[in-house]
Amino acid sequence: MKSTNPATDEVIETYDDHTADDVDSILEDAVSASESWAETDITERQQLLENAGEILRDRQDEYAELMSREMGKPIDESYAELEKCAWVCDFYAERAGEFLSDRAIGSEPNAKTFVSYEPLGAVLAVMPWNFPFWQVFRFAAPHLTSGNVGLLKHASNVPGCALAIEEIFREAGYPEGVFSTLLVGSDTIEDVVRDDRLDAVTLTGSEGAGRAIAEQAGSELKKHVLELGGSDPFVVLEDADLDAAAETAATARTINSGQSCIAAKRFIVADEVFDEFLERFVSEMEGLEIGDPLESGTEIGPQAREDLMEGVHEQVEASVEAGASLECGGEPLDRDGWYYPPTVLAEPPMDSPAAEEEVFGPAAAVFRVADEEEAIELANDSHYGLGGSIWTADLDRGERIAREIEAGCVFVNELVKSDPRLPFGGVKASGYGRELAREGIHEFVNRKTIWVQ
Ligand code: NDP
Repeated sequence: MKSTNPATDEVIETYDDHTADDVDSILEDAVSASESWAETDITERQQLLENAGEILRDRQDEYAELMSREMGKPIDESYAELEKCAWVCDFYAERAGEFLSDRAIGSEPNAKTFVSYEPLGAVLAVMPWNFPFWQVFRFAAPHLTSGNVGLLKHASNVPGCALAIEEIFREAGYPEGVFSTLLVGSDTIEDVVRDDRLDAVTLTGSEGAGRAIAEQAGSELKKHVLELGGSDPFVVLEDADLDAAAETAATARTINSGQSCIAAKRFIVADEVFDEFLERFVSEMEGLEIGDPLESGTEIGPQAREDLMEGVHEQVEASVEAGASLECGGEPLDRDGWYYPPTVLAEPPMDSPAAEEEVFGPAAAVFRVADEEEAIELANDSHYGLGGSIWTADLDRGERIAREIEAGCVFVNELVKSDPRLPFGGVKASGYGRELAREGIHEFVNRKTIWVQ
């Protein structure tokens, strides 16, 4: 396994993969830790999580640089990601006890009836490279605190982040085996998913990876949660504040250099304001600062891997060939590293990649619709259903449309973002299950009904 700096194509470090024997002993340690960890008082588990949050804040310079070097994230965004990780630690350190306390039902007069929440055991997290700290912390913070032990199989291009996170939990005081990293590729993970010692799996990544995990975990009857891709609609209605919409649209499309599942990808604009919005949006996209991810102020860094950048370019080229109008960008940059510029495609045909597929890079597709009804229809004309953003001056209208969008979350006059306090997840091919908030921590517990009479 190796880390390669996507801004320079230089190999930063190589790592030996764990062997089958290593994986076996890591699993064994996890199982041994599991029982006593589940019995630890919740306040102790909350305290350890708070410690992890403190370490993240104390060492933010080191971790921000690690992320930016290993997958090219603009450094200001790396700092923001670390702060969010510390926030999710604080959030569950404060609230996990409340979320996991018995829920009295009390509908039966002659009995005590309640739900108790008990950990499942060992949970495997297969995680992606795009938010290499956040994706892991949003898994670990709730699920370790609920008394599960965690095994991380991180993406193969971010082994440095994977090992750093393991070290954070160790230093925070978590007992050996409660959180471990498996340095293995996706080709060997099926054995772990099927291993009797493993109880549940969660994956964040592509639809293909999701289907593979779902088949394996499903055939073993193991609980699993999937957070897959998205092609989120960003609907701009004729009464929207166009300045705010255009500025937020550019941020929503290019966050993490365009590599986010909840980035806005399909911009659906009412005919009345289409030309004006397009002009402002293109100007915002062209004004973004492309540069070295290690330099503060950079807004667009390289794509995380060469193959990913090539994939985005192929989607853009095929969409233009199919009839989309290229308004800006559209060619990899002529410089070291895997840079792709902010790109805008206007009115791509419905059978082009920009309309049909998830574009995981800074390329936006802008569609013209006659009215609100057509906007909703187009927003829902996707096999994904992760998030959606609606722009209108009429908040009642926004709320009504939000209810009609087929997605796990909809934001009105705001970009889609994850937040420890809010449940997060998708419908349709974007996956199932929820992360974060009360709903998230309840995914990997046995919600046990107890009746005492
Ligand atoms: P992948 O889905 O291939 O990788 C994500 C994680 O899943 C990695 O840990 C990867 O391991 C693992 N994985 C891949 N295939 C399997 C499998 N068959 N069984 C078990 N685990 C597997 O994403 P890519 O890195 O290739 O990115 C490609 C696309 O995925 C993007 O263009 C985007 O559409 C989507 N994506 C979505 C993300 C999201 O947040 N929902 C995040 C990242 C990507 P390994 O690295 O070892 O292959």
